Amino acid sequence: MSKPIYLDNQSTTPMDPLVLNAMLPFFKEKFGNASSIHHPYGLEAKDAVEKARLVLAKSIKAQKREIIFTSGATEAINLAIKGVAAKYKKNHQIITQSTEHSAVIDTCNSIKRKGWSVVKVPVDNHGLVDPKTILNSINSQTVLVAIMHANNEIGSIQPIKEIGKICKDRDIIFFVDACQSYGKLDLNVEEMNINMLAVTGHKIYGPKGIGFLYVSQKKPKIDLEMQIDGGGHERGYRSGTLSVPLIVGFAKAVEICEKRQKSENLKLKKLRDCLYHGIKNAHPDVILNGSFDNRLNHNLNVCFPDIDAETIVMKTEGIACSIGSACGSMERKPSHVLKALGYSNELAHSAIRFSLGRFNTMEEINRSIGIINETVGHIKMKKIKRKSRFFNKV
Ligand code: PLP
Repeated sequence: MSKPIYLDNQSTTPMDPLVLNAMLPFFKEKFGNASSIHHPYGLEAKDAVEKARLVLAKSIKAQKREIIFTSGATEAINLAIKGVAAKYKKNHQIITQSTEHSAVIDTCNSIKRKGWSVVKVPVDNHGLVDPKTILNSINSQTVLVAIMHANNEIGSIQPIKEIGKICKDRDIIFFVDACQSYGKLDLNVEEMNINMLAVTGHKIYGPKGIGFLYVSQKKPKIDLEMQIDGGGHERGYRSGTLSVPLIVGFAKAVEICEKRQKSENLKLKKLRDCLYHGIKNAHPDVILNGSFDNRLNHNLNVCFPDIDAETIVMKTEGIACSIGSACGSMERKPSHVLKALGYSNELAHSAIRFSLGRFNTMEEINRSIGIINETVGHIKMKKIKRKSRFFNKV
């Protein structure tokens, strides 16, 4: 049986073959430990790590020494928020917003248990934060503001530059989870007034298990308390032997994204719009979740009113997509993102996220439209039959 069409690229992306090729020597003959700088094996590994660090730093217009390698974005987010919380003894307020990824929400809950006050500002019905609500929530206790760049479920893009300016003017640290925008949107930490930023390799056709935290080292220099004790790697911020193959692969993935960003965005927007209109034409009752214009080009999130999304996904075996966000989809709780937009539980349960990627083709999108429309049509027909049987009985 052929594999389903992969439309779940915001959950994770397949690795680009060029990334794998770049990594392979570091799994084999180039196996050195980047900390063993007294022999050629270690020096070769260290050289590869530092070359990769430069590529990654440049990709967000940062300096090499501002990049701390982690096992992914979850760890980077924990280091940023808990690391700052541990350093600030006097003031104890963090401002975040209601549609953040669970990695941010749960980390905020963790520091809340240690006495921090966590303010969650609301979003509008497109999932967008109004910078004024952040401004109004700031008080003398505010140390940190944590706002994601683009949402993982509905793709909404937040006004990061404006929020950054508000924070900068008030000497408040600004942290951005940029997992979903990295490699897709331009990121310039200086221009956007970002002090800390977390990203991950597996959303950009790179390997899983690698990410980084950018921590500003100049105007302002952000001080963090390390969260993992050990050999003092990464300038003491994150101990643990560096995974050279993953770091090399991550940098290769970024280089490819940089080359392709413009053309890939155009292609994905075309495919995504085609998918949306193809479904909407057949089923005019579908609701687009999130902003029409202000969203990632590869994201489509729609509700099929009165139908449980799980029923659709179970029946559309030819497509791999997601209900709610992938990380939360083991639980049958309505998406906290759609709830934040003001949706009822029933409507939130009818939402499906299709996220497109580099390797999708127009042929796959046309096939997907056919599969989805037929499945939804069957489910609707069954419902009508069931209803008419019920009314014939009474
Ligand atoms: N933040 C966002 C917005 C995400 O989409 C994800 C992954 O789903 C994460 C954080 C966690 O990233 P990682 O899988 O690298 O820990």
